[in-house]
Amino acid sequence: MYYGTIKKYDIANGPGVRVSLFVSGCRNHCPGCFNKETWDFNYGMPYTKKTEEEILKSLAPDYIEGFSLLGGEPFEPENQEVLWQLLECIKKQYPKKTVWCYTGYQYDQDFVEGGKIYTAYTEKMLENIDTLVDGQFIESQKDITLQFRGSKNQKIIEL
Ligand code: SF4
Repeated sequence: MYYGTIKKYDIANGPGVRVSLFVSGCRNHCPGCFNKETWDFNYGMPYTKKTEEEILKSLAPDYIEGFSLLGGEPFEPENQEVLWQLLECIKKQYPKKTVWCYTGYQYDQDFVEGGKIYTAYTEKMLENIDTLVDGQFIESQKDITLQFRGSKNQKIIEL
């Protein structure tokens, strides 16, 4: 898996100050996407054990409320095995910190067995996520007053 950025003081993608990982690869191709370069699965840098250690270390301070996972698309099948392992490490080491994840796929359709992105790791990822923001970014439903999401169709789901 590749990733574009790690933000260590992110206040835009979930409550409080968070560490955010922007992974590479996305097949949703939403018109008006704010992050088109991340559609390429080879964009950015390779994700390694060192990346994982950097994320875990960045989450340590008390003022960091949690971790947010964005893309690109974290739930592309190619990304799920690595991300499940990362999320499990985060939850083991920091059980009180919250995990948010943004996906362009639909929770009620694509995440079920037989769904578009369902793999052996999908449920394991979901078990380690507190809040999922789902649905493609739809430019005609864009609303800059919305908190933590870009367009009205996107849902904030407490898992
Ligand atoms: S899911 Fe996100 S990264 Fe992918 S095309 Fe849509 S807005 Fe862009």
